[in-house]
Amino acid sequence: MPQPVTVGRLPAVNHEEIQERAARVFARVREAAERAGRDPSVVELLPITKGHGASILEAVAAAGFDRVGENRVAEADAKRGSLTGLDLEWCMVGHVQRNKAARVIRVFDRIESVDSLRLASKLSAEVEKADRAALPVLVQVNASGEASKGGFPVEAGPARVAEVCELPGLRVEGLMTMAPFVDDEELLRSVFRRTRELNDRCRLEIEGYAGEVLSMGMSNDFELAVEEGSTELRLGTILVGKRPGQ
Ligand SMILES: *Cc1c(COP(=O)(O)O)cnc(C)c1O
Repeated sequence: MPQPVTVGRLPAVNHEEIQERAARVFARVREAAERAGRDPSVVELLPITKGHGASILEAVAAAGFDRVGENRVAEADAKRGSLTGLDLEWCMVGHVQRNKAARVIRVFDRIESVDSLRLASKLSAEVEKADRAALPVLVQVNASGEASKGGFPVEAGPARVAEVCELPGLRVEGLMTMAPFVDDEELLRSVFRRTRELNDRCRLEIEGYAGEVLSMGMSNDFELAVEEGSTELRLGTILVGKRPGQ
């Protein structure tokens, strides 16, 4: 049996409120993009529904989103199993244990948190074993140097990302990073900037690497991420409300 997760609970916010919240976020995205001379239309929002019951996914879909992000495979599996008729792309944004690789590719359509070559190799092997099309993934980068954070060290440069790109079962669409939970604007900026610079170098140095997706920015730091080049914001709290217990 899957773990008893929060499947049955009423959503914290309904689809109208999600639309209003998204409109306010988009207005702030436009202003941030303008400050940086960027085109705001390339920035997408990925609602992160972890910690909420399955009904939040219905509200998110009704609000017009076609993708969601979750960070635990058991929780996502239970929610996905309890929902029918929802046409959503499920994105994994949390750490994946290698022994869950087979399950994770069954539950998720896309993995944004490929944080080691060993995990990447295992995922690729499982995709091939399942005879599936190459799985879209992002390579997670550790650009803050925090020992507690997973990911490819940004200092390792494009060579390490290139090794993931060579795996036949994966299609690397770009990079993902998580900034530390701090208020230090310069530190946050440097994390985002270093990730963008690595992506630019990968584009130059890795053949066939398009690197069109840069997933950076969460509820508390998304404007800085937009100013520094993000194309995807992973937004939980600000879009779908606080998680129970948060
Ligand atoms: C939870 C989570 C988010 C969203 O966090 P908020 O601060 O609620 O926006 C984004 N990315 C990852 C990897 C997460 O685990």
